[in-house]
Amino acid sequence: MSSQPTAPIAETARQTADRLAAALAPAPRGLIIDGRAVPALSGKTFATENPATGLAICQVAEGGAADVDVAVAAARRALVNPAWAAMSAYDRGQLLYRLADLIEREADELAVLECIDNGKPASLTRWVEIEGSIKTFRYFAGWTTKFGGETLPVSPRSGARILNYTTREPVGVCGLIVPWNYPMSMAAWKVAPALAAGCTVILKPAEQTPLTALRLAELALEAGIPAGVFNVITGFGEAGAALVAHPGVDKVAFTGSTEVGKAIVRGATGNLKKVSLELGGKSPQIVLPDADLGAAAASIAAGIFFNQGQTCTAGSRLYAHAAIHDELLDRVAAEAAKLTIGNGLDAGVNFGPLVSQEQWDRVASYVEIGQAEGAEVMIGGGRPAAHGEGFFFEPTILRGAGRDMRVVREEIFGPVLSALSWSDADDLVAQANDSDFGLSAGIWTNDIRQGHRLAAAVKAGTVWVNCFNMVDNATPFGGFKQSGWGREHGRQAMELYSETKSVWVNLS
Ligand code: NAD
Repeated sequence: MSSQPTAPIAETARQTADRLAAALAPAPRGLIIDGRAVPALSGKTFATENPATGLAICQVAEGGAADVDVAVAAARRALVNPAWAAMSAYDRGQLLYRLADLIEREADELAVLECIDNGKPASLTRWVEIEGSIKTFRYFAGWTTKFGGETLPVSPRSGARILNYTTREPVGVCGLIVPWNYPMSMAAWKVAPALAAGCTVILKPAEQTPLTALRLAELALEAGIPAGVFNVITGFGEAGAALVAHPGVDKVAFTGSTEVGKAIVRGATGNLKKVSLELGGKSPQIVLPDADLGAAAASIAAGIFFNQGQTCTAGSRLYAHAAIHDELLDRVAAEAAKLTIGNGLDAGVNFGPLVSQEQWDRVASYVEIGQAEGAEVMIGGGRPAAHGEGFFFEPTILRGAGRDMRVVREEIFGPVLSALSWSDADDLVAQANDSDFGLSAGIWTNDIRQGHRLAAAVKAGTVWVNCFNMVDNATPFGGFKQSGWGREHGRQAMELYSETKSVWVNLS
């Protein structure tokens, strides 16, 4: 017998989930205000459920307008508290690095927490949500010491000798409202640049997925971020609306549906707070006849079926050239057949349930609408066999879709690909751009000139040529048209959370 000590056996995702569920179930999760977990003033709570089972995980405080008042007051105090306001840029960056380290320490548990709350397979939450968030905090930690103003060559008529320079100041208290489809990474995309710029924040996670946001705020406190700098209000749309309307909030950053985005613009007029919006999409995937069909099919399938299609940039409109249309669709269908559907806690699963019954009903209704409009269900179209519980919906292709169909014009936000055939290149561009949205587009061709020409012609905030859904903190992300206002990531994100001040100093 070996005398070697045996390595501890790692907990399986299911064991972690059971442990988390046992720890979470007994008491409602509180709001995080001024560094403390507190119940909603109304005493109300709501259940957050596991989409793979439809069962409640725990109760969560239902924040409302009164709680928003308290959180805004805390964030306003923290904004001017020297513990935060006078902290050096370097030290602020160190706190963000420390927060990233703590997320890394908790990565396994956070990945499972996101999986049970959102339904996304744990293997995917691990790299998309958790590793993605770590990278975002580290990226913006670096900006703290690199983001500043300029010295500018002004030419006053008087001939006075003037020193003119600009500074960047935190925009103030920020209301950050995020959706359920990428809960932790959407929070990180906003919290990290806001804190890097020196703002204080009130994060409002989606009611379907509040758990990782609360944990993130706890870790921020553990990292040493002062109380009141990072607050979390869990709850429904009314809590978000209260944040948007609040006169003590200087900026709102929102990711979510275009419809709610419009309500936010209307709600923010009271004090004309700054607003940035990341909204819906209906992204075209354009395939030219010379494309590498194998690579295109794999990426088109991933582009619509990843995260069960609940991705703002999902490539949900396929424009396949008539010469390769049938072969391409067969290949995309073959890629879909490779997906392993199931509870995201199980190894090997890469396609989980939709987030809620409401979302399941919405996706199913669009499949019916598509059929009534004349499209044909090529694969999928409903609940997969052997998945009676939970909100599972099959990977679905609607072939024979037409430009005026609702399934081509409206965001379904599920695993449904609407496939169209094209043969006239000019009309192709017109069709691709014939959309209220302009978030992203994919182009597949081996002709570099065609790739660049189409990239220039397509109206979208991000264009991928021979790739899809690549996102990086270094490059701007956001939409044209009704897909949003402003850009996240990169320097642009720092600009979203800061004001520019121009200073004139008479040296004459
Ligand atoms: P949603 O608009 O219904 O909700 C988003 C958030 O807004 C939630 O936290 C919700 O509670 C809150 N909210 C609801 N009503 C509100 C109101 N009147 N005032 C203030 N806040 C309110 O969106 P969803 O269903 O959670 O998410 C799906 C949508 O998000 C899709 O349209 C998708 O395209 C979009 N999305 C966009 C991006 C992007 O970067 N462009 C990324 C992810 C998701």
